[in-house]
Amino acid sequence: NLKSKTAVVTGSTSGIGLAIARAFAKEGASIVINGLGAPDEIEKARAGIESEFGVKAVYSPADMTKPDQIEEMVRLGETTFGSVDILVNNAGIQFVSPIEDFPVEKWDQIIAINLNSAFHSIRAAVPGMKARKWGRIINTASAHSLVASPYKAAYVAAKHGITGLTKTVALELATHGITVNCISPGYVWTPLVEKQIPDTMKARGLTKEQVINDVMLEAQPTKQFVTVDQVAALAVFLSSDAASQITGANLSMDGGWTAK
Ligand code: NAD
Repeated sequence: NLKSKTAVVTGSTSGIGLAIARAFAKEGASIVINGLGAPDEIEKARAGIESEFGVKAVYSPADMTKPDQIEEMVRLGETTFGSVDILVNNAGIQFVSPIEDFPVEKWDQIIAINLNSAFHSIRAAVPGMKARKWGRIINTASAHSLVASPYKAAYVAAKHGITGLTKTVALELATHGITVNCISPGYVWTPLVEKQIPDTMKARGLTKEQVINDVMLEAQPTKQFVTVDQVAALAVFLSSDAASQITGANLSMDGGWTAK
């Protein structure tokens, strides 16, 4: 179990991140949750983690586009709980558009949240992990870290970047008891996926049912969505001692998508 550990999970007010934060809490870890949303809903998620799993949880409002706030988030974990042992870079957004219409500010925002934020948080968390000779860094990448889909230029570029960052840092930290990996889910049913349906309908001229069956699940040979709890279970495994020799890896959980 993870009783003596602290986990920081970015983008954990919703979807995959929330499931990962709750899974670590179930293992006894202290938790720093982070992400956007209505204050009462965030407080409900935070308090729920404490009451359901009997652990401590604090909320960091850090905006993943702001390097100084990202560093503050890591420091909040260290000052509140004494260490940040597990760092999950999970915050992410999507935007779907043909390249020639892709808004420049959306490109910049996606690269900032989906890629740059991981650099800033890793940079802040590594000295403490090195000092304690133990750490787990887990980046939520995507099947789009391995293959592309049209109209997702920024997202695919950022996710391919995350795997490069993961491999590089894994090599740098290999002898320090710190593993660095990414998890690459296929389509997971979360608000992020739900929200991109209208834009994909528009970009491809399809109905909602066609987007779900012919675009999303078309990519996934199992014809099923991945669940947030399945992704969280892999994150917990990567944090165990059994996974100490898994580093620099990009672990797919995509119903066979990238086998094609
Ligand atoms: P989600 O929309 O449910 O959650 C995203 C989280 O990121 C939320 O907590 C949100 O508040 C947070 N966030 C967004 N912008 C932020 C910012 N500027 N600062 C701080 N937090 C911010 O989406 P999800 O599907 O759970 O996605 C989580 C991760 O999983 C993302 O990196 C996404 O790319 C990846 N992913 C998702 C799928 C999928 O099918 N859902 C597949 C592969 C990879």
